[in-house]
Amino acid sequence: MTRSVPAIVILGNGSLSTARRLQQVYPGALIHGLAERVDGADRVYHEFGATLRELYQQDTPIIALCAAGIVIRTLAPLLLEKGAEPPVLAVAEDGSAVVPLLGGLGGVNVMAREIASHLDVAPAITTSGELRFGTCLLNPPSGYTLGDLELGKRFVSDLLAGETVRIEGSAPWLAQAQLPEDAQARLAVHVSHAERLPAANELLIYPHSVLVAVSADVTDVPNVVRQALQRAGIAVQSLACLLAPDSAMASPALREAALELGVPLRFARAEGGACELARQAIGPVVSITGEDTVAVALSEQPLDPMQIGRARGRLAVVGLGPGAAELMVPAVKAELARANDVLGYETYVRMAGPFRADQVLHCTDNREEMQRARHAFELAAQGRSVVVVSSGDPGVFAMAAAVLEALHESTDTHWHNVELEILPGVSASLATAAQAGAPLGHDFCVLSLSDNLKPWSIIEKRLDLAAQADLALAFYNPISRSRPWQLGRALEIIRQHREPGTPVVLGRDIGRPGQTLRVITLGQLEVDQVDMRTMVLIGSSTTRVFPRLDGNTWVYTPRSYGDKLTPI
Ligand code: SAH
Repeated sequence: MTRSVPAIVILGNGSLSTARRLQQVYPGALIHGLAERVDGADRVYHEFGATLRELYQQDTPIIALCAAGIVIRTLAPLLLEKGAEPPVLAVAEDGSAVVPLLGGLGGVNVMAREIASHLDVAPAITTSGELRFGTCLLNPPSGYTLGDLELGKRFVSDLLAGETVRIEGSAPWLAQAQLPEDAQARLAVHVSHAERLPAANELLIYPHSVLVAVSADVTDVPNVVRQALQRAGIAVQSLACLLAPDSAMASPALREAALELGVPLRFARAEGGACELARQAIGPVVSITGEDTVAVALSEQPLDPMQIGRARGRLAVVGLGPGAAELMVPAVKAELARANDVLGYETYVRMAGPFRADQVLHCTDNREEMQRARHAFELAAQGRSVVVVSSGDPGVFAMAAAVLEALHESTDTHWHNVELEILPGVSASLATAAQAGAPLGHDFCVLSLSDNLKPWSIIEKRLDLAAQADLALAFYNPISRSRPWQLGRALEIIRQHREPGTPVVLGRDIGRPGQTLRVITLGQLEVDQVDMRTMVLIGSSTTRVFPRLDGNTWVYTPRSYGDKLTPI
């Protein structure tokens, strides 16, 4: 089992120095600090309970620097659900105690030992088998799978009761364990890829030493694979990976098959059938099925799937939202965590961070959109997991369209084979509207006032028609140094159709440090109140305002026209 990078969660500044020491043990781990209590955390959170539960449900190992009781009470509601059980540890804020709480089979005790040894204290390990034998027999290392957990628990309790044990097969990680070994023992740890009936006196452990190659035209892959393994007398638990020809990279059926079998899917150039594919990847083939469509190959050692062929590359175009971390959707956070490469305008890449040392950042100028899109495909086509970041939503005057255009123009099958996904974000118009109330509560029109990529005459026409149609308006890119007069002209057009009293919302750096929100009227609006970091919302004929008790103003556009039957 490969463990993902843990999250270090702290509640106050007093824990920061211990948290930094833990980062030395887990270099990629980010420190999550409670907003307003912690200065200098890598990630800021607002609610401890929700944050801890989200991490837990995402299967992220958790190191919480607080009382064990708080962690237990917070996670208790999730414990009855079947699902992820990542390692969870409570560490005293001064580093004097390390308490593994959950995730015994996910390696929590291994982590407790790693942390305790770094902090120079004794871990509070309470698992009997672990204490007696120095290892958790039920949690074999990466590259091996335990046969049956319930039988395993009985096996360990028999051992704890004083029985001796034999080791059959190769289990190098047990060499340092203090097991009561005896060649004549009734109990045996049996390590092998061979299919074997479970028995109470045997702890079956399967090395991931088997590869199955399938050719592109195989249907019902999971069953075909299971049958091929069965015929070869091999346990399905020993399957390390599924290998298919490059030409089948985009096949959804293969992707689902690998998910169902619970193994990575890798691809290689196919010179011949499945047999040749498997032979080139790892060597001797033990069984071939069909007309060379399924081949089973066996290695002496557990296989590392990452070293076999390559993965299907992935490219995600994500929206970061306006800036504030809590307005970023969880799917985007997860995508950033799995990225090998991150591309984007430098400001946005920085906004998406912090990143781990193993993640490669490619910061470019904002204007080089098509070049950035092509670069992203080149990286993803190598099998990497690539993320292109945009602020707000990637489909609103941002990178998603450029990425699709680059793909549409390309005839490179490697590019078309990439798994492409667009993940949405909260766009600036919506983030600004929410802060002002609901100015876009009825029909509205979104426009970019930039004439860099479209003729100004089109913009004028759209402004005129949208204003005539009594749509509320949201202007992106309202003004810039190279486009100084356009906003003034746009307002002239709008004023032909709208009253001077029409509410206007100006949101600047919304969701970012120093944000400002102003509610004025169309009559008061001046061009120099707006810059390129501003979102301009102009109400329709029905948009209304009323005061808030805090001195600010609510703005909303009712959903109904009410008695205003001929508004235009
Ligand atoms: N994809 C982005 C928009 C990019 S266009 C989105 O969906 O939000 C850039 C323009 O968006 C800026 O000129 C500004 O008008 C607006 N904008 C982007 N982020 C903003 C923010 N945080 N506050 C106010 N306006 C913003």
